[in-house]
Amino acid sequence: MGKRPKGIIVAIDGPAGVGKSTVGRLVAVRLNYSFISTGRMYRALAWKALNSGVDLENEAALMKTALGTRWEFKAAGGPEPQLCVDGRILGAEITDETVGKTSSAVSRFAAVRKFMCEMQRAVGAEGGVVMEGRDIGTNVFPDAEVKIYLDASPQARARRRAMQLKGRGLAVDRAKILDFIMKRDRQDSERKNNPLKKADDGHYLDSTDLGIKQVVEKIVRLVKDRVEGRG
Ligand code: C5P
Repeated sequence: MGKRPKGIIVAIDGPAGVGKSTVGRLVAVRLNYSFISTGRMYRALAWKALNSGVDLENEAALMKTALGTRWEFKAAGGPEPQLCVDGRILGAEITDETVGKTSSAVSRFAAVRKFMCEMQRAVGAEGGVVMEGRDIGTNVFPDAEVKIYLDASPQARARRRAMQLKGRGLAVDRAKILDFIMKRDRQDSERKNNPLKKADDGHYLDSTDLGIKQVVEKIVRLVKDRVEGRG
């Protein structure tokens, strides 16, 4: 089937908090594909830079950090390989809003993006992968067979994020969450290098009024149509 040994590439791009990871992971399970969240790579760099006192405005210093890091993806028994940075498996430490905000700041630099993009292309080269981020369909894999731009209103995204945090027993300030989301979207869509935008040949999917299951079904259908030659 096609040019990649393990299957096609499904690119899912979209703004912060829209559910790309949740949906992408479930789509990967349905297809028996692997799942890669590229935001985790930017977050890992941001986390390391924050912890080692690197000047976040200094592109060369950030690149030195990226190049001096041992990046590994370890099979973890599910669709998503674990991202290991210098031998450490990163989990909850890269999910908070400070790291989110910082990752958005470091991801605006061209050299950083080129570095990450090369790593992402290497990880997905064999296909059979669902990869999510901001520029997968436009930049990392412009030849991805299925491209989705997953969207939802900022209010719906803030509401979902608040529910997620509540579920983890954390304090929630919905207005603050909405503010974070809108700031990050602005930063990600207005940057010069590979901004967040829908690929011209991508499918726009508004999930404001859809549940996770419905979104997953729609994407799996698009993939099946494509693989079976109907789309
Ligand atoms: O998706 P997530 O919130 O984990 O991404 C964190 C940040 O990493 C985003 O706000 C964005 O600035 C950056 N990013 C990016 N390109 C990607 C994935 C993430 O610029 N492909």
